[in-house]
Amino acid sequence: MNKKIVAVDGPAGAGKSTVSKIVAQKLGYTYIDTGAMYRAVAYKVLRQGKPVTEQLITDIVRDIDIDLQYVDGVTKVFVDGEEITGEIRTPEVSSIASKVATIGFVREKLTELQRKMATRGGVIMDGRDIATHVLPNADVKIFLTASIEERARRRYDELKAKGYDINLDEVAKEIALRDKQDTEREIAPLIKAEDAVLLDTTNKTIDEVVDDILNLCRK
Ligand code: C5P
Repeated sequence: MNKKIVAVDGPAGAGKSTVSKIVAQKLGYTYIDTGAMYRAVAYKVLRQGKPVTEQLITDIVRDIDIDLQYVDGVTKVFVDGEEITGEIRTPEVSSIASKVATIGFVREKLTELQRKMATRGGVIMDGRDIATHVLPNADVKIFLTASIEERARRRYDELKAKGYDINLDEVAKEIALRDKQDTEREIAPLIKAEDAVLLDTTNKTIDEVVDDILNLCRK
């Protein structure tokens, strides 16, 4: 099978990163987590300890250096040379990530980086606008989704396992707000590309979804 470009989009908690990592491992591809890049910007913005304004975000992204290193099935995230992998999955960072993602200048800069990362093929990239904007010529396009209840439950389990003191309602609200911000923003909103295959993961196991994607990659 020649080295393809696989685009996976969908809302938070649909299972994009879980299945994309496994598919990448099975195909010997590189997994590119574009959400981690928006999270990296949000993390640096938050670290300033200043009110989060569009001006601050623009200033930060102007000379930020973001690097993703995918080694042995794990994506390590670096900002200005410092590893921040463990710091970017908090609910606070999620919420600011969704805010920074509405700004055109941020999207332009990250999109350019993402395209460079995909030039050699043999990549599976996940996000919100991969099939529609970043890689419209991807060989395989998938839109992954699941019910809001199921997505909230998954995110809740994930955060609980990491030791966060949260409740399911709060997580469901945070996800609903991010869905709204991501689907209603003006630039590159979350939407299924016309030629993407819709996979609803609500009642599927991880293995079933991985098999579905592998079958699509083999076509
Ligand atoms: O996928 P993840 O939940 O880590 O993404 C964090 C946030 O980054 C999303 O809620 C979304 O606002 C933004 N994002 C985006 N475009 C992408 C990837 C993520 O706008 N390609």
